[in-house]
Amino acid sequence: MARAQSMLRPVIGLLGGTFNPIHFGHLRMAQELAQSLALDEVRFIPAANPPHKVAPSVSATDRAEMVKLAIADNTAFKFDDTELCRSGASYMVDTLQSLRTELSDETSLVLFLGGDAFSEFHTWHRWEEIINLCHIALVKRPTDISAAPLPEALKLFLHNRHTDNIDDLHQTSAGYVITQIITALDISSTAIRNQLTAKQSARYLMPDNVIDYIKHHQLYRA
Ligand code: ATP
Ligand code: MG
Repeated sequence: MARAQSMLRPVIGLLGGTFNPIHFGHLRMAQELAQSLALDEVRFIPAANPPHKVAPSVSATDRAEMVKLAIADNTAFKFDDTELCRSGASYMVDTLQSLRTELSDETSLVLFLGGDAFSEFHTWHRWEEIINLCHIALVKRPTDISAAPLPEALKLFLHNRHTDNIDDLHQTSAGYVITQIITALDISSTAIRNQLTAKQSARYLMPDNVIDYIKHHQLYRA
């Protein structure tokens, strides 16, 4: 039976990131999760001041513009400026709380996390509150295979919260972690930045309009 009940509850995917720059790894993840989890939309949320990284070399405005260009031709992908409009560190728990005031409590939110991001999740600001505000879709990245085992706190968290049933994401608005396997695209912003700095092409790793933006604004030069 189709998810008849769930049709009433909007289900929104959330992809936060530095997007320095956005690439096909991000876009393909959003596309596949939108399909496999039957999401109504996916919001791309660029971090103004990512708490776990050194300050990005490229301004939040440029990173945001590149996200807008990359998602312009997909009506299910939305740009979300929640973090850009806030000063201080861009903590996901604050972002989720402001999304909860914007959206009804009924709305199901699904935060996408690559395995690399999840392995540090227990270090995030007020991390234990996050699962009460959204679900988590844990996505395997190719580099995760060689990753160190998860810390005990995260193992326990997964044990308590894990589900294999997509309907859980549609029938409740927060609280579950689901693992999803997606097409492995071993693309990272770090590798792209290094290639661009070395004057190598980033074609076929990211959308052409983003490449044009980078050239025009002379970003990622040595
Ligand atoms: P950097 O190399 O600067 O850390 P990144 O490529 O990891 O950049 P982020 O903006 O840090 O990109 O990532 C945002 C989110 O997208 C994270 O949850 C990350 O795990 C996920 N992600 C990034 N690249 C991929 C990819 N190729 N496949 C699947 N998930 C990805
Ligand atoms: Mg990263």
